[in-house]
Amino acid sequence: MKVPFLDLPTLSDEVRDDVVNRWNRVISRSDYVLGSAVAEFEHEFALYCECKYALGLASGLDALKLILRAYGIGAGDEVITVANSFIATALAISAVGATPVLVDMCDFDFNMDVSAVAAAITPQTKAIIPVHLYGQPADMDPLVELAKEYGLYVIEDACQAHGARYGGRRAGSIGDAAAFSFYPGKNLGAFGDGGAVTTNDPVLAEKIRTLRNYGSSVRYHHDELGENSRLDTLQAEVLSVKLAKLDGWNERRREVAAWYRDALSDLPDVVLPSERAESEHVYHLFVIRTAQRDKLVQFLHGRDIGCIIHYPIPIHLQKAYASAGWTLGDFPCAERAADEILSLPMGPSMTKEQVDYVAAAIHDCFG
Ligand SMILES: *Cc1c(COP(=O)(O)O)cnc(C)c1O
Repeated sequence: MKVPFLDLPTLSDEVRDDVVNRWNRVISRSDYVLGSAVAEFEHEFALYCECKYALGLASGLDALKLILRAYGIGAGDEVITVANSFIATALAISAVGATPVLVDMCDFDFNMDVSAVAAAITPQTKAIIPVHLYGQPADMDPLVELAKEYGLYVIEDACQAHGARYGGRRAGSIGDAAAFSFYPGKNLGAFGDGGAVTTNDPVLAEKIRTLRNYGSSVRYHHDELGENSRLDTLQAEVLSVKLAKLDGWNERRREVAAWYRDALSDLPDVVLPSERAESEHVYHLFVIRTAQRDKLVQFLHGRDIGCIIHYPIPIHLQKAYASAGWTLGDFPCAERAADEILSLPMGPSMTKEQVDYVAAAIHDCFG
C-alpha cells in the first residue's frame, strides 16, 4: 500500500465535472478578473464564516498584508505573533515595514501562548495575529479581552482553519479581521493560489476592496497606492464548488483523526494532538509528537507513507530573520516542538484501511 500525505487528485475528481462546466461558462463570458463569480463566492464565503464581508485576494499572504496596510500599520509599529507558524505570518508584518514580535507557543495545542502576550506589548504594539494552527483555533477569548484592554487589533491567521469553530463561532469571525489562504492543499483550496479577508468592519472591507484593485474603486481614479491582488474568477468558481463540500470534508477529517486516536492511543512514545473543549478542530493537519521523530520519518517513508514536518524551523531561527536579533533558546516550546512534531497523512478521502496501515507502521517502528 502507498499512502500519500494528501490525496489531492482524488479530491479534485470529486469536483471536476462541476468545475469544468463552470469554467466553460467563464470562458464564454470571459470575465476573468473580478468577474461575477468572485462576488458570488465572496457572498457565500462571508455567509459560511458567519461574517458580514469577504474579499477575494491573490493569496493568504496578501490577505494578512492588506489587513495590516488597511489598518495603517507600518514602519515603527510592532505586531505580535507566534514563533511556530508558516513564515507568511511574520513576512506579512515585515512586508508592511512593521516589526514582528514573537511569543512562544503553548504545548497543549501548538497555538500562541496567550499568557505570554501581555509581556510582549509595548507602546508601539498595534495588533496581535494569533494563528489557528493545524486547524484548531487559538484561545481567542482571553486574547480578545487583552487586545481590548490595550486598544489593539486582533487579526486571525485562519489560513489553516476554514470552517473551524471556537466557542461556537467560526474561525474568521472572532477577531477584527481574518486572513484565509486557498492554496491547493488547504482545507478549502483552489486550483492555484488564492486568499480572502473576512471581517464585520465595513470600513476595512471597503479599504481592502480598493487596495486589492490598484487603489481604485472608480476605474482609472486611484485614491490609494494600491496593489494587484485579486482572486481569479476561475479560482472563485472552484472555491464555490468546493465550499459546498467543506463541512462534509471537515467532518471526514475529524473521523480520520478519531481513527488515528483509536489506533495510536496505546503507544507511550507518541503524543496525540489535544483538542480545546471550546474548539471544533478541522484537522488541516494531524500532528503527533515523539522524541524519536527522525527515526519515525525514515521508517514511514520506507513504507511509502507520506509525512511532513510543519515546521522544521521556527520563525525566529529562519535564515531570513537572521538580522532580527532572535537566538536559539528564545522560544523553547516552539524549538522543542520543531524537533518532535510530525504531520501524518490526512485528508477527507482517507480510508480506515489507510489509517490502519499508517498506525501499524508506527507500531512496528516503536515495537
Ligand atoms: C498557507 C498559510 C499562509 C499563507 O497563505 P498563501 O496563500 O500561501 O500565501 C499564511 N499563514 C498560514 C498559517 C498558512 O498556513
